[in-house]
Amino acid sequence: MIGLVPLRPQPQAWLWRSVLSPFAERYCEYLVDTGYAAGTVNRYVRCAAHFAYWLTTHRIAVASVDDRLVCRFVNDHLRRCTCPDPIPRCRTDVSAALRHLLVVLGACNVPRFLQAEPDSVQQEVCGFTDHLKDVCGLAECTRYQRGRIIRDFLRQRFGRKHIDMKQLTIRDIRRFVTRYPDGCNAGAAHVAGVTLRSYLRFRTIQYKEVAPGIRTAR
Ligand SMILES: [Zn+2]
Repeated sequence: MIGLVPLRPQPQAWLWRSVLSPFAERYCEYLVDTGYAAGTVNRYVRCAAHFAYWLTTHRIAVASVDDRLVCRFVNDHLRRCTCPDPIPRCRTDVSAALRHLLVVLGACNVPRFLQAEPDSVQQEVCGFTDHLKDVCGLAECTRYQRGRIIRDFLRQRFGRKHIDMKQLTIRDIRRFVTRYPDGCNAGAAHVAGVTLRSYLRFRTIQYKEVAPGIRTAR
């Protein structure tokens, strides 16, 4: 597929020799599938190659590529970019190209236990487990365990509907905790309780919200 997006040797080398190389082909496919004309696909891929060059020169790992990093690149780097020409520096193009790149990288990062879930649940649980990593510094196995618990909670409480914490009551929480996973394991109930408390704290920080029904639960 990358053969359909002819690039000059230099941007091509930047892309293929960077941490983005495993995603390059999928990125092109995604742009083509989204319906962009060949010229736009080519422009966006060159923007991604510019970003790839920057990642390489700053030795930034692919796991660190997120919204914040893209903003840093667009807002800070582009203004004082001295990368070798020809290189795209149009803020609008670079910003759009990298937004698509984040989608492609994000789709690859969705853990297996979330792959059958709706997008809203995937985003919510990934946001929560990122928080457990970045803010709480929890180990991967703990993040995995808590992520699964919150997936089960959201599935049970909201199904495929919008996740609306205003609808949540203390009764919902109590019912989930005392029955999780089968209602006869005090240890599991304790872990479920701790996880839910941590999730609600995350919601408070992330969305500046506290559901009225859960104010007394903490
Ligand atoms: Zn540059």
